[in-house]
Amino acid sequence: MATKQVSCDCGKTIREQGDDELVKAVQKHAREVHKMDLTREQVLSMAQPV
Ligand SMILES: [Zn+2]
Repeated sequence: MATKQVSCDCGKTIREQGDDELVKAVQKHAREVHKMDLTREQVLSMAQPV
């Protein structure tokens, strides 16, 4: 499974194996830290292969 990462605007880098895990982790971070709800499409559009 491909490892991907998202670099958040706040400086945090979230790295997960697999799209589902990445989407879950980034949505959780966005909700807890930024009070933002991201769609799966938004998360994947920010993702970069590691
Ligand atoms: Zn952040």
